[in-house]
Amino acid sequence: MNNYYQPQAETMPVEDIKKLQQEKLLKQVKYVYDNVKYYRDLMDKKGVKPEDIKTLDDISKLPFLSKDDLREAYPYGMLATDLENCVRIQSTSGTTGKRVVAFYTQNDIDMWEECCARAIVAVGGDKSDVCQVCYGYGLFTGGPGLNGGSHKVGCLTLPMSSGNTDRQIQFMMDLNATILCCTPSYAAYIGETLKEKGYKPEDNKLKAGIFGAEPWTEEMRRDIEKSLGIKAYDIYGLTETSGPGVAFECQEQTGMHINEDHFYAEIIDPDTGEVLPLGSKGELVFTALDKEAFPLIRYRTRDICILTREKCSCGRTFVKMTKPMGRSDDMMIIRGVNVFPSQIEAVLLNEGYAPNYQIEVDRVNNSDTLDVYVEMTEESFSDTVKEITKKEKKLAAAIKTMLGISPAVHLVPAKSIARSEGKAVRVIDKRKRLGINI
Ligand code: ADP
Ligand code: ZN
Repeated sequence: MNNYYQPQAETMPVEDIKKLQQEKLLKQVKYVYDNVKYYRDLMDKKGVKPEDIKTLDDISKLPFLSKDDLREAYPYGMLATDLENCVRIQSTSGTTGKRVVAFYTQNDIDMWEECCARAIVAVGGDKSDVCQVCYGYGLFTGGPGLNGGSHKVGCLTLPMSSGNTDRQIQFMMDLNATILCCTPSYAAYIGETLKEKGYKPEDNKLKAGIFGAEPWTEEMRRDIEKSLGIKAYDIYGLTETSGPGVAFECQEQTGMHINEDHFYAEIIDPDTGEVLPLGSKGELVFTALDKEAFPLIRYRTRDICILTREKCSCGRTFVKMTKPMGRSDDMMIIRGVNVFPSQIEAVLLNEGYAPNYQIEVDRVNNSDTLDVYVEMTEESFSDTVKEITKKEKKLAAAIKTMLGISPAVHLVPAKSIARSEGKAVRVIDKRKRLGINI
């Protein structure tokens, strides 16, 4: 299955990738300085000129760009070309606040769709495949990105968008879908619904799924692979950098290759901004090397992960990023302890529960409370209070071992936690009502 969509780029020797990135960076910095006043002001304030950037390492002299900058520059402040050269806008999901609007020229769209095509080919996709895209279509980048990638590969594309799960299943079965693209939480829901309808995993023709747009754990991957009878692959991206496809998993399923011919990635210490060496955990920062309409230099994603460059059995030479554990702003500080929802998810799935849960954080009498609501599964179902209490205590102990703090666990009836068709809402932090800055 060693197949590439663009072999020349995807297997380029690392020295050549670096050379290419350097050439593109120097050009891009000048282009942005000349065309985007907002970024020129940032560079002037830092006292750095395009001529100061001579090598790839000089990138650390450049200022960072944050989501707040993009919000401030809304809507046209980051545009580097005339509006008449633009053919599309997309927008972020607004998970963490006001939406950011991104612009695309036709070249930008082609580059983005090619990145998605690489992801589809990497999971074994070709023109004989039927690719069911149930990411949302519209302003959200998930649907349009994978739709474009699927066209480029030549798959028969089912542009389902999200929702209407009965129809998703009908088309999946009647039209023999082989590749499924959606958020992992929606994939889990489709798996659950298939089972309820009496289908076994081997009844569908799916072979692979491309799931991203939200954090998910290895435990969740195993769960989805089992329920759908497929291989589940991760895909990463954000609207600011174009959309999904910035990084994608290959057959190894050990992290995502970053499309380095188009994106230069750095890991920084989120507190000091210092660039960290390969293998360190920190905040992922991207510089888009080719974007024309909505360029990005040193954009702080707030996603926390690790970059590694080891030989991969697929033959791709691109650096790999680990699954982001969540965004730095997803991290909850509970009784002084740093907690990511993904840590709790890992415990729940290891203990045999389904990924249907919600975390509630509050502050009562000056002390943080952590409540975890988890649905009972068929296997764990019990109707005696004593049994339920025993199970809740066992789960609470397992979470305490993982986090070091004790939660209150509540087992709730199946189907009582709302299912998500897009990005799942995992955390309700009620401390916000107290005006606590978390
Ligand atoms: P918003 O920031 O409003 O959610 P986007 O829809 O552009 O806007 O989502 C991009 C974000 O989604 C990323 O910064 C990251 O936090 C998250 N994300 C995307 N893909 C993945 C993935 N495979 N694993 C974990 N998180 C992801
Ligand atoms: Zn690989």
